Amino acid sequence: MEGRSLLTDFSRFYVLLLLYEGGKHGYEIMSSIEKRLGRTASPSLVYPFLKLLEEHGFVEPSADNVGRKTRTVYSLTAAGVQFCDRLFSQFTNIVSSAIEPSLQVCAHCGCRVYKDAYIQRVRGEDLAFCCKYCARSFLRGTKGGA
Ligand SMILES: [Zn+2]
Repeated sequence: MEGRSLLTDFSRFYVLLLLYEGGKHGYEIMSSIEKRLGRTASPSLVYPFLKLLEEHGFVEPSADNVGRKTRTVYSLTAAGVQFCDRLFSQFTNIVSSAIEPSLQVCAHCGCRVYKDAYIQRVRGEDLAFCCKYCARSFLRGTKGGA
């Protein structure tokens, strides 16, 4: 149940990403979600969300005449673009703070290692290095000092 609502939110997030690329029809949005996320996007998700964005002044509908048919194109307003900029940078912060705790810092050069750090035992202590060369240089450096 919880995962389901998360996915719904992700679809909304994705709708914003699509609109950020440029104005789109509701149908284009749904088919892009299906194509790129590999999941069905129901009109009952997309249209109420577009309506909500419109109510907030983030999206502006305009008529696009294709032959005798009129379709509605949804485009982000300036406020909508601002909203997305904020949202996307928040999202970036969330992602980096999720990754941060699993980063190890190389004891020699100070670079950050996401995974598979090279672990070397130095005076009874396991130290993390980005590679064996850093571990060697580090060992060479400590030998003289101690
Ligand atoms: Zn290193």
